[in-house]
Amino acid sequence: MPTSEADHVPAYRAARFAVVDPATGEAFADAPDQQPDELDAVVDRAHRAWHGWRADPVVRTTALRVAADAVEAAGDDLARLLTREQGKPLAESYAEVARTAARLRYFADLAPRTRQIVDGRPVRSEIRWRPLGPVAAIVPWNFPLQLAAAKFAPALAAGNTVVLKPSPFTPLATQLLGSVLAAVLPEDVLIVVTGREPLGARLASHPGIRHVTFTGSVSTGRAVAEAAAASLARVTLELGGNDAAVLLDDVDVDRIVDRLFWAAFRNCGQVCMAVKRLYVPARLHAEVVEALAQRAKAVAVGPGLNPETQLGPVNNAQQLARIERVTQQALADGARAAAGGHRQDGPGYFFAPTILTDVPPGSAVVTGEQFGPVLPVLPYRSLDEAVDAANGTGFGLGGSVWGTDLDRAEAVAERLECGTAWVNHHAELSLAQPFAGVKDSGVGVAGGPWGLYGNLRPFVVHRPQEA
Ligand code: NAD
Repeated sequence: MPTSEADHVPAYRAARFAVVDPATGEAFADAPDQQPDELDAVVDRAHRAWHGWRADPVVRTTALRVAADAVEAAGDDLARLLTREQGKPLAESYAEVARTAARLRYFADLAPRTRQIVDGRPVRSEIRWRPLGPVAAIVPWNFPLQLAAAKFAPALAAGNTVVLKPSPFTPLATQLLGSVLAAVLPEDVLIVVTGREPLGARLASHPGIRHVTFTGSVSTGRAVAEAAAASLARVTLELGGNDAAVLLDDVDVDRIVDRLFWAAFRNCGQVCMAVKRLYVPARLHAEVVEALAQRAKAVAVGPGLNPETQLGPVNNAQQLARIERVTQQALADGARAAAGGHRQDGPGYFFAPTILTDVPPGSAVVTGEQFGPVLPVLPYRSLDEAVDAANGTGFGLGGSVWGTDLDRAEAVAERLECGTAWVNHHAELSLAQPFAGVKDSGVGVAGGPWGLYGNLRPFVVHRPQEA
């Protein structure tokens, strides 16, 4: 029990953690290192704000449209900060800011549909939809803003409030986004918390949170599901991928090679649904390896703020070490680097864009998620062999098939065990589509109306037609 006035005063917390610029490897800023015991007050604020926010969908639509405008207006500051802490080329940061605003605008105008059940009985059953309460959104470092918006836009549109936790590698642009949105949304409707673990773990298990929506690695996803089990909160998990691209024997290599290259190397390969394994008919293998190696050698690698840069650094030192480790293991197992194969000299976390050939199929760069600028190119002799190899992984996020005969390519794409299968491109998403992985790649559905309903619960009113 408090015994004096001093006991009522919260502890002064000045703890902060460093944020590193991956282009230099040097700390350039810091962020508040919020502690797990601060979450009670944060979730309480989100809960109090929920009562007003849930009341009026028309108010929410207007507010989220205004929020989208505010994000665009802050685009220069958001994009520069994102490039500093994440590493991606500035043009990609601008594109990410635009996608963040687009998500707000899309969900602003999406409303759940009330439905009546007609089953021949003289009763009226009506399904209405209710928000869940405070939602925890936990986000990784590869697309901090757009992945955050993919969570908070549908959650807010549905009438929930949100506690958003970015990765400690990329807290700054998210903090700025939080301030931009706080200026136009009602107080505490969206609260950003920053800090190192166990902040995320404690947020996922907090009893006041009714939905945990998480994007990140499979192992952390499992920990989040276990943590949320304590309060039986709903869980949506968007996890890792090891997407295969399968080229068919009628593919026009010259025509597709640029698209294919960037499907693997965009954002320095740090994309959950990047092409991470490439299966090529044996007779085209040498030609494809050579075409991709030429692209890899011609790419301008450098700091994201340099306007010439096409490929920035890897985001953080641990990730760079992991990419180096799996690449060296593959080379030790007998693989050959047709391009790259090593980190770049000098400061910063730069890894040369790498095309690997002669990779043993059991090598970690094939069986796991390299999540970096490294692509193994694997020959196949029969289409069944290629499809079996593509599906022979614990992941199931996306996959693609490339060929000139589109119907044939689509028929092969249908055989892929994944959430989204593309023909002649990869990792293209529409805001209106469901996004869901199978196997270890995820639980639940994000995107489109499914993303909205993922943040709502059905409420059924059942009454006789007549008194
Ligand atoms: P990560 O799992 O290490 O971290 C993700 C987030 O979880 C971060 O905010 C982190 O601080 C937090 N966290 C860490 N431990 C936690 C815990 N015990 N409880 C709760 N939260 C915790 O992932 P990462 O390295 O930041 O991101 C890369 C991974 O994300 C890759 O596997 C990638 O495929 C995946 N990813 C998936 C998608 C998708 O939509 N499926 C999209 C982007 C990235």
